[in-house]
Amino acid sequence: MRLRSLTLKLILAFLFVGLVGAVLVAGFVGERTKSEFDRFVLNRDQTALLEELSHYYRATNSWQGVDQLLSNSPDNQDEAWGFRRRLHGPPPTGTLVDANGVVLLSQDPARIGRKISPEELARGIPIGPRDKMAGWFIFDDLPRNPPAPTLPDSPEQAFLDNVRHAIFMGAVGATLVALVIGVILAQTLSRPIKDLTAATKIVAEGNLGHQVKVRSKDELGRLATSFNQMSSDLARANKQRRQMTADIAHDLRTPLSILLGYTEALSDGKLQATPEIHKVLHKEAVHLSHLVDDLRTLSLADAGELKLNLQPCLPYELLNRTTAAYQVQANAQNVALTVAAGHELPPVLVDPERMAQVLGNLVSNALRYTPAGGQILLLAAAAQNGITVQVQDTGAGIAPNDLPHIFNRFYRADESRQQQQGESGLGLAIARSIVEAHGGSISASSTPGQGSTFTIVLPLADTPAS
Ligand code: ADP
Repeated sequence: MRLRSLTLKLILAFLFVGLVGAVLVAGFVGERTKSEFDRFVLNRDQTALLEELSHYYRATNSWQGVDQLLSNSPDNQDEAWGFRRRLHGPPPTGTLVDANGVVLLSQDPARIGRKISPEELARGIPIGPRDKMAGWFIFDDLPRNPPAPTLPDSPEQAFLDNVRHAIFMGAVGATLVALVIGVILAQTLSRPIKDLTAATKIVAEGNLGHQVKVRSKDELGRLATSFNQMSSDLARANKQRRQMTADIAHDLRTPLSILLGYTEALSDGKLQATPEIHKVLHKEAVHLSHLVDDLRTLSLADAGELKLNLQPCLPYELLNRTTAAYQVQANAQNVALTVAAGHELPPVLVDPERMAQVLGNLVSNALRYTPAGGQILLLAAAAQNGITVQVQDTGAGIAPNDLPHIFNRFYRADESRQQQQGESGLGLAIARSIVEAHGGSISASSTPGQGSTFTIVLPLADTPAS
């Protein structure tokens, strides 16, 4: 394990926290046990002293010679030794007062023989039977300072040693548990990060679409999900880019090879320049020019740089303009081209030239797929927050498999037929880009064999276009 590894850092962090916790708890509990134990022993010694004083008074029926009992030099007095042996340390200090409140014993010899103040007497503990009050004992302040030392082999010392040992073992145990949990958690946390690091390298090497395993639902899990999403999006975008390049090359090649073939034959003198040949050359040049224009429109829309000359336009005027442009062709194909749009509909905010391009694409598609005797209807109606414009035809319709893809670039449902007609497969993609640049939307529905309907929703003139 290298020092730079996240796993090691996490393990050390958990170990450090565990260790600090264990040491703090051990120190606090150890100190508290010692002081509480000392207090307990002092209480015990005080009780023993009170019992001893009471016993002394009962035995002698006076306080005479009581100073020997508490004196530091027992002078072989068995009674005093018996009491001393019961004590944990030196006897507790304080003031002994007789039944009249006169001081008998005190740390301060000057007070002996004097009467004690009632306030101090109130802190005193009565000695002797209830019917015959012998006096009071007033203990000095608690706790004893310094604390009473414990004797090396005493049960008290053994008790404290046991407690210390137990605390030490607890601290070692807690530290070990912290270490084990630290190792497990550190590995759990660092594994997805290692996976992601490896996956980023793989994607950077060009293996787009590479996925990582999502191991959890937390932040790391969400990071893995986002990475997978990004990787698939990159792969899809890359595929689309390649496909588009291939499609552009393919679509440019056909008219270019026709132009090349004819011009070479003309310059070699193998072919005479007739009006028909000029017509063919012109048609291919126009087709190339349209293709380049379409690609330019799409790339501008992609870059968000499609210039729109937005102005309020009445829906029926937009539709009438389109029908006027295609009426001759519709009549020639024996297809009825009609408009149904109320004059009362409010204006929409559009670029009229661009919208004419969109509607023109839809109507020319409809004319291409609608047989003689069919009908093409251009409708406008009020919708929520805008105006709905529809181009309905009674043509061949679109197969359900093709319907989700028809707005994709270079998508042609019927490849052979389209190639013959010289269409690019960009018409609907451009229509969508233009409509979306207006802040609108476009969709298609169709029943194969019965016809198709293209629906555009456009914003009203008083709604700002997004
Ligand atoms: P193209 O330039 O080839 O017409 P479009 O993007 O305009 O490309 O249309 C894509 C495909 O959608 C067409 O190839 C055609 O198969 C299908 N399509 C579009 N409009 C209609 C329609 N009105 N009826 C049936 N099919 C349609």
